[in-house]
Amino acid sequence: MNETYQGVKFETLFIKKEILKNKRIEKLNYWCKRFSELGFAPKIGDGSAGNLSFRTSNGFIITASNSDLRNMTNDDFVEVLDVNLKSKNIKVIGKKSPSSESMLHFLVYKNRTDINAIFHGHSKELLNSNFISTKKEKPYGTIELAEEVLKILGKKNLILMKNHGFLSFGKTMNEAWSSIILSMKKK
Ligand SMILES: [Zn+2]
Repeated sequence: MNETYQGVKFETLFIKKEILKNKRIEKLNYWCKRFSELGFAPKIGDGSAGNLSFRTSNGFIITASNSDLRNMTNDDFVEVLDVNLKSKNIKVIGKKSPSSESMLHFLVYKNRTDINAIFHGHSKELLNSNFISTKKEKPYGTIELAEEVLKILGKKNLILMKNHGFLSFGKTMNEAWSSIILSMKKK
């Protein structure tokens, strides 16, 4: 990805500014650490390039914008309740803005009722492989990027975003992780 990180490209509407209590956050935090250890979330400014989420009954819980995945605290997780694509605002519960790719996660969950976890990371190895990839490069955090993803999404467990990174999916977080590891072996 050639574009430098400049923050989120939407407005965050805080419905409640409080720390989340969902028990599965601990599990997501575990995968955030593993992600960093394997180099899928390279350092960028104060945070890391990568975002992970799981579905909840109200929406989904995702890593906060510009968070350091190696070192997450409870307020680095944000629950996205709703996304308004037209006015580009996102309703959340949490203390921080959600990941810059929240619109992307939102649209994938909407189109894939079979999945409950989405991991986005960066891997040169996978980018140079033959996995299905979006045709056009689009800037991070845009609806245009999400639309490119939806074009090729189908029922796949892993796809590439051109010149950028990968997205993996699963019914569970474990499965989203396995999708990456299996792809690394297959490539
Ligand atoms: Zn990225």
